[in-house]
Amino acid sequence: MPGNLKNTKPNRYIKSDLKSHKIIWEAEHPCRWPYMKILREFSTLKEFYPDIDPYVEAYKMRDNMWAIFEESMDGVGDVWMYLIDGPEKAMLIDTGFGVGDLKGLVEKLVGKKELIVANTHHHFDHAYGNSQFGKVYCHEAEVPQMLKTVDPHIWDYLYDHETRKGIYTDFDVDDIVPFEPVEVIGVKANHIFDLGDGYEVELIPLVGHTAGMSGYLDKHNHVLIAGDITGVGKPKPGDTHPENCTVEALHDCFEAIWKRHDEFDGVFPGHGALDQTNVMIKYHLDATERILKDPESYDEIGEIIRPSGPVKVCKKYVQQGTAIRYDLNSVYKKDAVKD
Ligand SMILES: [Zn+2]
Repeated sequence: MPGNLKNTKPNRYIKSDLKSHKIIWEAEHPCRWPYMKILREFSTLKEFYPDIDPYVEAYKMRDNMWAIFEESMDGVGDVWMYLIDGPEKAMLIDTGFGVGDLKGLVEKLVGKKELIVANTHHHFDHAYGNSQFGKVYCHEAEVPQMLKTVDPHIWDYLYDHETRKGIYTDFDVDDIVPFEPVEVIGVKANHIFDLGDGYEVELIPLVGHTAGMSGYLDKHNHVLIAGDITGVGKPKPGDTHPENCTVEALHDCFEAIWKRHDEFDGVFPGHGALDQTNVMIKYHLDATERILKDPESYDEIGEIIRPSGPVKVCKKYVQQGTAIRYDLNSVYKKDAVKD
């Protein structure tokens, strides 16, 4: 069982009408958990269409923007996707695990209009639903890993193939979206997506977690959809920019977007509490600055079990947030090695 997970119901069990049922639960974060419990059990923002997609809940966060919640299918990280309904086109940011008819839900919310689909990064919880959409955009440095998700076997690890039962979360295996090839289009940092009538969404590089992790700045709503900014990952074979998987690269991205903080007042991450104030970016920047000054000054060090084996992970606390997770070999760009 992956580290940090348990197979008992948490103390503050979250009631849910979703078709997914967790077998393995992540740890209860002290602030995130009660936030999610209150939001999911009591919020009037919630829209649930079980006849279309019984695996997601949509929360209307702005007049034309929804945060779409899906439970983790593999034990780690219930995830947020985002949908923006622009004047001519809609834009979906991330596609979840690929269980349930997300495309049908998008059509229910915005009607039948042209849809741009973009990913923050290639991870299972953000990109495994891409198959439903034919074409996806991402940062150009994310393309090598994104191409690896265009594979009919990506969902194999989620269930036992004899019993066809979920391993981490119980779900109907027949609800996995049929595999279809997907065209992956890499775009440069700060690429502008035009949703019509001057409505712009800009790709904001926030690399570190992966080589091309990106946020998206909705300039009309003044919100930054931030993706996963709390951990620095390892470069993977094929990455063209391994130096992006470092604390230094993440720091430089935070520094660049913090200079533009008057352009957004809400931060919407890939996991956890929604609509955080923009100063969260400053707090993340401060944490990365402290790591760069003295990488050994971590607040915690622990071991987590990855499919590749145990890895030592340092944590530097983020004010009002969780922590930046990093590895002592992935701090400075000069230390990054290309495979
Ligand atoms: Zn991720």
